Amino acid sequence: MKHPETLLKFPTNGNQLENFTMEEIGDDHLYTGIDTPLTETAFDISDTEKKEKIAGLFAQIMEVMGLDLNDDSLKGTPKRVAKMYIDEIFSGLNPANKPKIALFDNKYKYNQMLVEKNIQFYSNCEHHFVPIFGKVHVAYVSSGKVIGLSKINRIVQYFANRPQVQERLTNQIARELATILETEDIAVIIDAKHLCVASRGIKDDSSATVTCYYGGVFNKPEKIAELHNYLNL
Ligand SMILES: [Zn+2]
Repeated sequence: MKHPETLLKFPTNGNQLENFTMEEIGDDHLYTGIDTPLTETAFDISDTEKKEKIAGLFAQIMEVMGLDLNDDSLKGTPKRVAKMYIDEIFSGLNPANKPKIALFDNKYKYNQMLVEKNIQFYSNCEHHFVPIFGKVHVAYVSSGKVIGLSKINRIVQYFANRPQVQERLTNQIARELATILETEDIAVIIDAKHLCVASRGIKDDSSATVTCYYGGVFNKPEKIAELHNYLNL
């Protein structure tokens, strides 16, 4: 069962994964929908309990690999990993950690696009649990409301702090901004490197992945051109 997330007005792009076996899917990064797949029991236990459980299970993984957990360098690792997962790199799974965003009236009557570019982010690929990192560029045209610029970074960080695929990260940021800013005039572009592609598997260190979401006015070629001009693309 999936845990429902708020507001679903974006296309979900569902595809028929059940027709493929794990081996056939292989290293391909599939995207099954805009909502992070969560179970209905995802938040039934506290973060403290989650960290205890993860530490125990991670210790088992290390033991299976033959690592000596009595070694001074290794013995703290299961707890460190559990704390890092829950408090840091996967903290965006918990809706309680969602940034509180205050809206302001657009007093400057600025009605052109606002572009916030080069927002650095770190996430993790949900297929391999290794880092995805890069830059997010966001643009919007105010519908009468604006938010503090640093809040855009916080929204990016919140959704990046989940096991992710880049396509979903792109759409989740766009949906959140569209909801908060009460406008469809949103653009999100992500240019990122995936360590599961660079450091293992095909070992391609030079490629990068670019994804985008264009809503409302950003579907017009002249608006896309203007945005790309700001971004020097
Ligand atoms: Zn991966």
